[in-house]
Amino acid sequence: MDNITANELAGLGVGTLLLCAAIAAPRVDAFISASQRSSLGMCKRCGDLRMIACSKCKGVGLVKDSGPFSFNLVDDLVQSFEGAESKVKSISCTKCQAKGHFSCPDCSKISQV
Ligand SMILES: [Zn+2]
Ligand SMILES: [Zn+2]
Repeated sequence: MDNITANELAGLGVGTLLLCAAIAAPRVDAFISASQRSSLGMCKRCGDLRMIACSKCKGVGLVKDSGPFSFNLVDDLVQSFEGAESKVKSISCTKCQAKGHFSCPDCSKISQV
């Protein structure tokens, strides 16, 4: 009954971490599924991409200067790819310096380079 092994506890913790990561970084999570990460022993935070997407600009590096929120980011991206004129100017994301991502703190911690 109370024979919960360390492995089970670890699995529970990893599951919680992956859930948090999935919520915090949907863009990164789109590349590698959570189940793949855990089975491959990859970084729980970034899935070994060594970066985490910027939450402000959704990894794009640019933010629309049209208002506090933009819910049609994908539409805007498609428009810009198609060369459509955009009335809204994009400004560099100040949170990530327009990079769209940050170095994964977990990976940089263990990196000896
Ligand atoms: Zn950003
Ligand atoms: Zn990482």
